[in-house]
Formats: sequence, C-alpha cells, structure tokens
Amino acid sequence: MLTMPAACWLCQMPLALAHHGICSFCQRALQPPCCCPRCGLATFYPHAECGRCLQRPPSWHRLVFVADWRPPLKGAIRKLKFLQRTALSVMLARLILLTWLTARRENRVNRPDLLLCVPLHRSRAWRRGYNQLDDMARYLARGIGIPYAPGGLSRRKKTKIQHLLNARARRRNLRGAFRVETDVKGRHIALLDDVVTTGSTVEEISRILLRAGAASVQILCLCRTL
Ligand SMILES: [Zn+2]
Ligand SMILES: [Zn+2]
Repeated sequence: MLTMPAACWLCQMPLALAHHGICSFCQRALQPPCCCPRCGLATFYPHAECGRCLQRPPSWHRLVFVADWRPPLKGAIRKLKFLQRTALSVMLARLILLTWLTARRENRVNRPDLLLCVPLHRSRAWRRGYNQLDDMARYLARGIGIPYAPGGLSRRKKTKIQHLLNARARRRNLRGAFRVETDVKGRHIALLDDVVTTGSTVEEISRILLRAGAASVQILCLCRTL
C-alpha cells in the first residue's frame, strides 16, 4: 500500500507514523506541568488546590489546559489567531479534547452539560474574518458529547486591550462587558478560551454565569500562563 508522507501538525517535521498527527518530540513538549487543578498555575501538589486558590479562589471550579505558552503550541496559536486556518483550529481543539478526556478519566473534572466560548467583540471578529474559537467549540462539543450554544454569551461593549492594563483596571474594564444569552440555570458549564493569562476575562464570565444560576464552571483552554 502506498503511504502518504505526512508532517507533524505543530512543527512540520516528517512523521514516521502518519496517523499520529504529532511527532514524539512535540508530544513530549506538550506534557502538562504539575499544576493546580483549579487555577492551572504551577504547584508542588498536583491533586490539591494551591495556596492561592485556598486563600482567594477564582470564580471558576476547574481549569484544563494543554500546555504552557511555549513552542510548539505557541507558534500554532499565533497562526490560528492571525491566519484563517480551519484545519489548524480543529487540530488544536483535538489537543484540548485529548487533555480533557485524560482529566475526566482521572476524575479531575466532571462532565459539563453545555459548552460556551468567550465571545469576541463583533468588530474584532470581523477584522479577523472569523472567530476561531467557534470552530474549536463545535469540534470540542461533539467530542465531549454535549451541546454547544454559539450565541450563549455576548460581548456588550468593546473593551480596551487587556494586556496594557493592570489587574484592577482589567476588572473595571470588563465590568458589564459580557451577558449570558442562554439558560444556564442548574447546568454545569464548560467555557472555552484560547489562552488564559491573568484570567480576568474568564473570571468575569464565570462570575456572571454563576450569578445566572450555573451549577459550576470549568475552563478549557490551550495555554495557561501568567
Ligand atoms: Zn512536531
Ligand atoms: Zn490554584
């Protein structure tokens, strides 16, 4: 049988086994570090919430991420953000799905009832041409076996670029920025974002979801970094 030469999705090196999709080097680089199951930041005790979370827990309950903000994932996310590449978004969503399935198998997360994704402001979605999170969410919801509500959250106002602000200004900047547009009462919500840094966006959205009656919120993302 003729085999197609295939390249690693992340680093484009030729693959020995085409169906693997990712080379062994990238696979090793993607091993998640020892982290707190709630905030996703580094900790010494992998199965207990960290000291920061015990003192001042975030509004969300669990955070599942693929890897740190470093190569090879870093380059793939950059491409995803600035180029219109649907195949890439499906591949990245698959990485999140595999990470989530492992966490589920190890009983680190519960099964959510509904998937939502962090909404882009309309003008920004327009400039990029499409919302890459939307593609990822469709794939992910199918993989987990739960519904996805595309317009479940909306962005009410155009916020300033977050990374230029300090922590308190970020919170002020985001107040009233989002609205829950679907019934979340009593439901366990999974919220998809691409990269979680300070967590202020997912914090604000988790807060309004819980206020709207959601039973719990878990964050799914590609990278967790500070
Ligand atoms: Zn590779
Ligand atoms: Zn923590």
